[in-house]
Amino acid sequence: MPIFEYQCADCGAIFEELVPNSEAKVTCPKCQSSETKKLFSMFASSSGSSGSAGSFGPGCSTGGCGSGGFS
Ligand SMILES: [Zn+2]
Repeated sequence: MPIFEYQCADCGAIFEELVPNSEAKVTCPKCQSSETKKLFSMFASSSGSSGSAGSFGPGCSTGGCGSGGFS
């Protein structure tokens, strides 16, 4: 079951709510207002890996890569 973040339009409180679907009615836990809006959670698009992060590209075999070394 997804957890969504909501913000109360009345008191501005941000809270997380476990909702069965996106159309569920959510009330503010602080002021019991129903004027809440759903925020897009940060983990909404976190399915799958983020590409390949194993190769460092060519060069750098002798420590001479990059400008500005220690002098
Ligand atoms: Zn509130």
